[in-house]
Formats: sequence, structure tokens, C-alpha cells
Amino acid sequence: MQAKIVLLPGDGIGPEVVAAARSVLNAVARQYGHTFETEEHPIGGAAIDACGNPLPEDTLGACLNADAVLLGAVGGPKWDDPTAKVRPEQGLLGLRKHLGLFANLRPVRPHPELLAASPLKPDRLQGVDLLVVRELTGGIYFGTPRERRTLNGQQSAVDTMHYTESEIERVARLAFETARQRRKKVTSVDKANVLETSRLWRQTVGRVAQDYPDVALETLLVDAAAMHLLTRPASFDVIVTANMFGDILTDEASVLTGSMGNLPSASLGETPNGHGLPRGVYEPIHGSAPDIAGQGIANPIGTILSLAMLLRHSLGLEQEATAVENAVERVLASGYRTADLAAPAQPACKTNEITQAIVQSVTGVPTF
Ligand code: NAD
Repeated sequence: MQAKIVLLPGDGIGPEVVAAARSVLNAVARQYGHTFETEEHPIGGAAIDACGNPLPEDTLGACLNADAVLLGAVGGPKWDDPTAKVRPEQGLLGLRKHLGLFANLRPVRPHPELLAASPLKPDRLQGVDLLVVRELTGGIYFGTPRERRTLNGQQSAVDTMHYTESEIERVARLAFETARQRRKKVTSVDKANVLETSRLWRQTVGRVAQDYPDVALETLLVDAAAMHLLTRPASFDVIVTANMFGDILTDEASVLTGSMGNLPSASLGETPNGHGLPRGVYEPIHGSAPDIAGQGIANPIGTILSLAMLLRHSLGLEQEATAVENAVERVLASGYRTADLAAPAQPACKTNEITQAIVQSVTGVPTF
């Protein structure tokens, strides 16, 4: 296969973890005989420094032309001034908007060897294998009006939560289709006892569910869902929810695995790429971790597993995606731990050491 992949390293540890994933991509290309054409472009703080724009036209143009995009992370203290007109996050939000990435998929599956790294008791984590499908381009993060106002002589502020039936329907269908490939259960999370948008959400998801009689539908209020994620995480298969609820629940779910450094994500759009598959932006769920940037100790697994999702969802390379996931499992099982994963007395390895081990495992070189 020939494919065009844009790499957006971003800020902080972004360039370190994207370089790690690039080595794995090269290994997959060698092992399976593919040609992946890669281009690197700035985004976020690095792009603000380079040209004053967190999403330069060249970067956006390259992403619109690519089959898929792999991103590190954006942001950091250097660009944190709350009064600044341009901010690194605008690059990310702009990219999602321009590529029409309406759904964010975050799988959460704690590795058996790392159960002790989670704050939850290991018996609660047995069998946890869930996928959160978060609506990404609607809801309160995009609704208007969103502004400051003066009301009775004091400052006030307004945000707007807005959803159309079609926005809800497309993400609900993606959730049901995905559940069909898994354990055939969808949990729809809303706040229908209070919010009108949630009542439309519940009604629309219920209607879509009728087209998927083989998939069980459960409905939960978001406050109850936050609790059930901790008390019965293994009972979930696919969770579908609105933008803000998903933002909060996915961070809560990430804690189940012990380290954010391990978790991948995929943001998918409707427009097909050159292979007739969704063009997507794939990124680890963590941020730019400025506290450890430049030290060569970042955990690259979240980005490498994001690459596996890219191979699966945007290139249809299921065998290659599974090979990368299996390589990560083997390397963790054989004891490799970056500092964020290592137990207190356990030695930690560097980013390039664990990456090399994963590369060798993908290419079948027995190093352990
Ligand atoms: P963070 O995820 O960057 O870091 C939180 C903690 O986890 C830190 O102690 C960090 O060292 C550790 N950590 C994160 N990823 C790691 C990895 N791969 N390996 C080892 N340790 C890891 O969150 P934060 O500190 O709240 O945010 C830092 C910056 O990142 C901020 O500017 C924030 O806006 C930005 N951010 C960006 C994104 C994104 O690009 N999608 C997401 C979240 C935060």
C-alpha cells in the first residue's frame, strides 16, 4: 500500500513521542512492504513561534491532502498567557473543525501487568475493555452565543449547548457500528433529567438503536455514569456521549489504566481519504508534559497505540495494527517500564529503549 501520513509533533514531549511512533511506522513499512510517505509540519506553540499562527495554512493544507494525521501534543507554559490572542489549543480545535472530525474514539483496556499502577483495586479492573465515543464538533464547546455580558452592572458570561438531530445521529451510528465489532453493547450518557439537548440526544439514540437490534442499549445520566465507571468499569463496552461529558468521562476512564501515557485516541471525520476510509487525526490522550520534556523519558506507548489505530481505521491495515498492539503487549510483559509506569523500586527505561524494543518486536527480532 501507498499512503500519505502527516506528522504534527507539536510541543513539549510531542516531538519525542511522535519520533518514537515514526520508528514504529518505518518498521511496519519494512516488515509488510508498504510505502508510507510522511511529512512533518508545525502546530500549536511551535507554529506560533514559527509564524504566529497555531494552525498555519501549509499545515492545514497538508492534513487535508493526507490519508491520516498523527499528532503529538500542543501547549505549554511559554504560551499560557490567558490574555494572549493566539493560543496553541486553537490549532487543535481548528484542525478538528476543518477536517470535520465529529467523533473521538478512546479505547481503555488496562494491561494485565500494570493493574497495580491503577488507583482502583485490581479485582475491579479485571475484564475492563471499553471504548468511549465522544461527539467532538458540537455541543457547548462550539455553540453560540458564547460571550461576556454586563448584566445589572456586573459581569456575566454565557455559553450555549446546541445539538441537531443529525449531529447526534451520525455519532450514535458510529457507536452502534463499532459495538457490532465488539461485545454488542452501547451505553448512551446524557443529562436528560435537566437538559433539553440531552432529551433530544436520548430520543435520537433510541431511534438509531432500532436499526441495531443485535446491540443492547443502556442509558445513563452523566453523574451516575461517572460513578459506575469506578464501581463497575468492566460492564461497559461502547459509551457514546456529548462533547463536554465525553471530555470529562474520558479523563476519568484513563485513570483506570494507571498512566495517561499509555492511552491512544482517534478523531474521525465523514470525508473519506484516498483509500475510501475516514480521514482521521490520531493522538495520545496526554498533553505536552512540559515537566519532563527534553529528558528522553516520556512514555511513547499512547502515541504508538494511536499509530495502530491509524493503521486500522484510516488505512484498513488490521493485521499491521494488531502487530503493533501485540508488540506493545510483549514489551510490557517482558518488563520494560518508562518512569511513569515503573513501581517505586523498579528501574525505568528511556523513551528510545522501549521504542527500540517495540520496533524489534514488530519486526520479529527476538531481543528478550
Ligand atoms: P499532561 O498530560 O501534559 O501531563 C500531566 C502529567 O502526566 C505530567 O506530570 C506529565 O509529566 C505526565 N505525562 C503525560 N504524558 C506523559 C507521557 N507520555 N509519559 C510520561 N509522563 C507523562 O497535562 P498537563 O500538565 O495538564 O498539561 C500540559 C500542557 O499540555 C498544557 O499546556 C495543556 O494545555 C496541554 N494539553 C494538551 C493536550 C493535547 O495536545 N491534546 C491535551 C491535554 C493538555
